[in-house]
Amino acid sequence: MSKEEKNIPADCDSVGLQGLVSVDQALQRIRAALIPISGFERCALRDAHRRIVAESVISPLNVPAYINSAMDGYALLAADLPASGEVTLEVIGSSFAGIPYAGRLQPGQAVRIMTGAMVPEGADTVVMQELVRRDGDRVTIEGGRRAGENVRHIGEDIAKGGVVLMPGQKIRAPELGLLASLGIAEVTVRRRLRVATFSTGDELCSIGEQPREGQIYDSNRYSLFGMLRDSGVEHIDMGVIRDDAEAIGEAFQSASTIADVLITSGGVSVGEADFVKQTLDRLGQVDFWKIAMKPGKPLAFGSINNALFFGLPGNPVAVMATFYQIVLPSLRYLSGEGTTQPLRLRVRAADRLKKRPGRQDFQRGILKPDENGELRVHTTGNQGSHILSSMSQANCFVNLPAESGMVEAGDWVEVEPFEGLFR
Ligand code: AMP
Ligand code: MG
Repeated sequence: MSKEEKNIPADCDSVGLQGLVSVDQALQRIRAALIPISGFERCALRDAHRRIVAESVISPLNVPAYINSAMDGYALLAADLPASGEVTLEVIGSSFAGIPYAGRLQPGQAVRIMTGAMVPEGADTVVMQELVRRDGDRVTIEGGRRAGENVRHIGEDIAKGGVVLMPGQKIRAPELGLLASLGIAEVTVRRRLRVATFSTGDELCSIGEQPREGQIYDSNRYSLFGMLRDSGVEHIDMGVIRDDAEAIGEAFQSASTIADVLITSGGVSVGEADFVKQTLDRLGQVDFWKIAMKPGKPLAFGSINNALFFGLPGNPVAVMATFYQIVLPSLRYLSGEGTTQPLRLRVRAADRLKKRPGRQDFQRGILKPDENGELRVHTTGNQGSHILSSMSQANCFVNLPAESGMVEAGDWVEVEPFEGLFR
């Protein structure tokens, strides 16, 4: 039904703002109701990927564990370096990574050394091989070298007894490597948050079924699957529920006994709110909010039995925007993750961005460098909350504050890139 048919003024964006909560208010209210999960478990290193550290990890050793070379070259004594002119030293052996030189270096001597190899006793400096002349068992070094150069010191990366990871930190690729560098095979992490999802709607048809007239494929089920998998939670996909009070009631009851969080999409917009609301009122405490954000105005938040409940809008872009802006920070907090701010950048808009004051917009943008190498954000075009291809084309949200009006090309805006190097 179009807005005209429903007798809603075409500019209903700017009217009817009464009773809307801002995105920040919604986040604060939700945060106040959250208690992070408390279960811990021991986990093998690889299984700890994307998990949240539950107990501080203390380093059992120094990294590096021994003084080693940062370069391929010659280990020697700084005292032998010439202030000017050159010096010729006797090459008495070599030190390879894993096969150190056994003896002690004396003044006038040098040891051929490779990157990562132990710097022999007596030596304190490594001169790069590109800067020397080698002739048989002699090596000639010119002035201008710095005492102690190209040497990596004990504990320079991590000191024995130091805190390597703190509770609340997420274990990503660098942390896996860091733990491995210490020989740590197991970590104590929080148990994974269990999140159940449902799609709601009589119009939904599953992949593999033939859509009847007026039916659409259920896409939210899959975008939620992807977003939840990226987030590292345990996802329980409960499929589609029909728009039927009894079916919804039963599905929520059973999910609330196995999951920490229930997430639904659809069924919270104006025409449907009462119906879902009745079921939720009967089963738990759930508030329906209108959040001053676009896309994604309607949102339900509350609890059913011991599970938290997020009722997302039905429109596919609104699902993704409310998930990233409202639900994901909540899931991270519940999972025990310390607070992290998403990366936000200020860049100039390359295009005009249509916006009316009233709601905070999360428009879809394409961030790319212009001919001078400066980042600019382009619009993906149609910003309708049903245009899921806009999410796929975009590489960032363009976060436009509620009070902002039209943005002209060249204006500064804030963007939130989708891509993080590590998750
Ligand atoms: P609703 O809030 O249930 O009225 O849904 C709003 C819009 O989102 C309608 O156009 C629905 O058809 C659509 N929608 C709801 N759920 C889904 C879904 N799982 N996948 C794709 N579109 C959906
Ligand atoms: Mg619906």
